[in-house]
Amino acid sequence: MYQCFVSKTATPPSASSIGTTLGYYSPTYDYLVVRIDQINKYSGTLSHELGHFFSLPHTFRGWDFEPWDQATHGTTVTALSPGGVPNERVNGGMGFNCTGTSEANRGGDRICDTPPDYNFGFGWTGCSEFTTVVNDPAGVRIDPQENNMMGYFIGCASYIFTDDQSALKVADYNSSRRNYLRTYRRTPNTNTISTAPNLVFPINQELVDPYNDITLRWDPVPNAGFYVVELSRSSSMDVDYKVYTTKNPFLRLTNLLSNRPDYRWRVTPYNEAYFDVVSSPIQRFKTGIVNSVSQIEEISYMDIVPNPTSLGDNIEIWMNNLANFQGNISILNAAGVKVFEKANQSFNKGDDKISIPSDKMAKGLYFLNINTTEGIITKKLILQ
Ligand SMILES: [Zn+2]
Repeated sequence: MYQCFVSKTATPPSASSIGTTLGYYSPTYDYLVVRIDQINKYSGTLSHELGHFFSLPHTFRGWDFEPWDQATHGTTVTALSPGGVPNERVNGGMGFNCTGTSEANRGGDRICDTPPDYNFGFGWTGCSEFTTVVNDPAGVRIDPQENNMMGYFIGCASYIFTDDQSALKVADYNSSRRNYLRTYRRTPNTNTISTAPNLVFPINQELVDPYNDITLRWDPVPNAGFYVVELSRSSSMDVDYKVYTTKNPFLRLTNLLSNRPDYRWRVTPYNEAYFDVVSSPIQRFKTGIVNSVSQIEEISYMDIVPNPTSLGDNIEIWMNNLANFQGNISILNAAGVKVFEKANQSFNKGDDKISIPSDKMAKGLYFLNINTTEGIITKKLILQ
């Protein structure tokens, strides 16, 4: 699914660009990020990033990381740009008038109707006419297109894509690798998110076991479509940092280290319109040393949701099973007395959910067992 994030900051994971990043896109992960202060009538950042997303390079391709500068590059530039791309020329078969020139032999952005630009916008005063004399390798003076969407001139009253740039974007959209964009149809969830998630488990330096099968849980946030879950082993959230996304108000982790006192986590809800608005406080927990071993091989996942369960509500067992099977469910109280039993329960392949009424039980700690001829699986259950 293609996603566009609008957030307070937009710092890419590896800072590989000059200046302050206003937005960036990831062709690999299929998303783009734009700073919220860039979404206004003076900024072309979002359209610029969408241009990249739909295959367009900068008009100054080859000068992306080293803008032209008189002292370094001279008034008349050499054949190659600092990035090793042939410099686009005003005439002579490359660049602006590249009729008849094969694409591989074109310089710069390889787009014929964008004039050469050696990243003149970077450091120039706004969108005013670029008046410095700079010549292409043939000695012809360059007149860049200041208001091109794929350049770096800032503050233009309006920006344009040229006809060739627009045609390339349309071709990219219509290409087979964009099938998913043309077929994906749903109404975005744009409802306001204003509540920080309430983390439920584990919190307050709680000890969790088994350490290698933990399900983090939080209360669902109104209007959240998804959650970002951040995990780390330091209060500044930078040691052993991991990020997950999920649609559910829980996240199962099977990759934590044993016997660590310093795990932290927090949750940030988002949807198509709200991102990075509210986060939960950071909660801390420790991991124990008990290893989880599922002794019924048909069960790939099993959890009780929510846990604790409120007395009177159904106890819900959420499962994912590799095959259909039959088994017995029993619930024992802390003294080992059986308070519930269901024999020959059918469990279904794939996602399965089983509800057990709790209204005949009392508040307290229980153990819920599923057993088959193969073995037994036990989960702690709290009724409150
Ligand atoms: Zn760019």
